[in-house]
Amino acid sequence: MILSRRFVLASFVLLILNSRLWPQSRLEYALTLQNPNANLLHVELTIPAAGKFVDFALPAWAPGSYTITNYAKYVQEFSATDAAGKNLVFAKIDKQTWRVSGFAAPQKITIAYRVHAARLSDTQSEFNAEHAHVFGPQVFMYPVNLKAAAVRLVIHRPPHWRLATSLEARNDSTYAAPNYDEFIDAPFEIGEFLEESFEVAGAKFRLVVHGEREQESIYQFSRKLQKIVAEEIGMMGSLPLREYIFCWHVDAAADYYGLEHLNSTCIGMPHRLGDQTLIGREMREYEGLTRQDIDLDYAAHEFFHLWNVKRIRPIELGPFDYTREVYTTSLWLSEGVTDYYAYLTLIRSGLWSPEKWLQKYGNTISRYRRATGWKYRSAAEMSWEVWLWNYGEGEQGNLDETYFSYYPHGDLLGLCMDLRIRHETKNAKSLDDAFRALQQRFGYPQPGFSEAQLWQTITIATGLSWEDFRRRYIDGREELPLGEYLSHAGIGVNTDSDTSASYLGLSVSDENGHVKIARLAPDSPAVRTGLEVGDRLIAINEEEVLFENWQDLLHRHRPGATITLLISRRGKVQSMTATLGKQPALDFTLSINNDASEAARQLREKWWASASVR
Ligand SMILES: [Zn+2]
Ligand SMILES: [Zn+2]
Repeated sequence: MILSRRFVLASFVLLILNSRLWPQSRLEYALTLQNPNANLLHVELTIPAAGKFVDFALPAWAPGSYTITNYAKYVQEFSATDAAGKNLVFAKIDKQTWRVSGFAAPQKITIAYRVHAARLSDTQSEFNAEHAHVFGPQVFMYPVNLKAAAVRLVIHRPPHWRLATSLEARNDSTYAAPNYDEFIDAPFEIGEFLEESFEVAGAKFRLVVHGEREQESIYQFSRKLQKIVAEEIGMMGSLPLREYIFCWHVDAAADYYGLEHLNSTCIGMPHRLGDQTLIGREMREYEGLTRQDIDLDYAAHEFFHLWNVKRIRPIELGPFDYTREVYTTSLWLSEGVTDYYAYLTLIRSGLWSPEKWLQKYGNTISRYRRATGWKYRSAAEMSWEVWLWNYGEGEQGNLDETYFSYYPHGDLLGLCMDLRIRHETKNAKSLDDAFRALQQRFGYPQPGFSEAQLWQTITIATGLSWEDFRRRYIDGREELPLGEYLSHAGIGVNTDSDTSASYLGLSVSDENGHVKIARLAPDSPAVRTGLEVGDRLIAINEEEVLFENWQDLLHRHRPGATITLLISRRGKVQSMTATLGKQPALDFTLSINNDASEAARQLREKWWASASVR
């Protein structure tokens, strides 16, 4: 565009005048770490105020967590002052918004408050004598009408505490972000952590660890992280950042957690880095793997998020509306397919043997076949309804039978999609091509994708039609043809279950040595008999039933046999007749089929081949 010289000059003068008249639209935060034993973070925010009032809000939820947390409940001692330090009037107008008024605009005004930060997790902050882990959505309010303004933060911290954040540093205590969304998507770890770093593809990667004292363990683990990073960058073909932080907490009292951010991730584990303890039935999802395999899984999952969900994201997920639930049908893709790529990365990089990968997918397929939820709610519905279920915690009706998480569901959908593409394109295309195309077309800061755009891009990248697949397995509730798709890669699905045993379809709890029905499998012989949750089982064919012998008594009878049950229901004893069914196949293992075709072997080799970069 060519402009006349006079016009350019005129606009330049106007610009100077404007910036003198109006304070620059920048959000200036100050965070002070004082009195760690009180667990209180002190926050100040100064903004250029215009109009009669300014509303300041704290998010109700945090991106990546999809649950209403209401961070405003941690705020205390709110106050507001004008540029001369005079106290301003404020009032809360809803659960998370403070309205400040009574100032003469335009001028800078400042709000101040404290945040109670006493719990370390992926979506919480903690400040104590050991560290300050600062999670933005819980700590930093935003002026509702200035969310897009640039941000600057000054942190006052104890002199011996180090600081790690992916935000741009202006000096040792000042950090900048282009807007509020990016600002709160960069947590801070402040304290006496240990660190290792490495370079891949010209970018720097930092592993910042709190809770692990042995530098050697951190170094050894960083070598493994480097393989994950190199493999995923190689697959995606490009890296849209220059520095990335793995912020790791080892805390015996903590739960497993991991949360993705734009240029970093925060992961927490209750075991030490490199823990080789084998996992048994207590965690069936990871049965047969080691604790370190969970570390690698989380790292590979969170790192893949830097593309899938942080940059390739459903249009609904950013810019964010933090005040209420944000709905999308695509979390099976954003979370589940991220799981799929995590496991694929581990086998491609050599960190997992083929046996380990087969063990993991045997566990996942068993989980899928034991669950019944996907028959009642589709992958798209589970994503939309995530706000209701809060990861299935607590007492929530018949959720055990009607819920199936979009993590394993999306993982298996990714597996089926990839194997379908590889098989139908004769090993020429893959889901990797679709992800590279998605990154190119939608990668942040470009706008997110609509569902129609998502499928249009996958269709163009793979040359296949996806209408039927979507209708049946994503929007619909049909069982995934896992055996068929895995056979394209020469992998067999085998069952461990004794399918000749009798089956009633209930699980029970121990009530002082007696048997109380806790759950009924949908559409099972138990349901057809008329049993209810809460019934007490007294006798099978006139023999007394106790918690210790109920399964033996049941398995004495063959499938198809008719038995008489004596039960107690709400204080009344009654008799029922049940016809026993056959134990369904629920436990699966996978194995390489050596008799499979040459095409299947070649498909598997290309699928599992490393694309690692240096
Ligand atoms: Zn820490
Ligand atoms: Zn995730």
